[in-house]
Amino acid sequence: MVDLSAGECPVQPGLLGQCPRRCRQECEFFAFCQGGQASNKYFEHGDFTVTETAYCRNSKIELARALGEKMGV
Ligand code: SF4
Repeated sequence: MVDLSAGECPVQPGLLGQCPRRCRQECEFFAFCQGGQASNKYFEHGDFTVTETAYCRNSKIELARALGEKMGV
């Protein structure tokens, strides 16, 4: 866990840029999601560079799949 009271910023700009880049390269839902939330990546995995999170699975991926099924796509 990050101790924000110490005034230390957990965000490293170089790492943040990697989240959407990896998502763009690896995820078929990127056009819909645009790379998700860095905060979920960090607090679920402790790493800004991961792609899939429980948040994006539940709020983006499953929603897109359900809509696709409903629309017959
Ligand atoms: S759905 Fe998840 S893995 Fe896909 S682009 Fe969004 S955050 Fe990345």
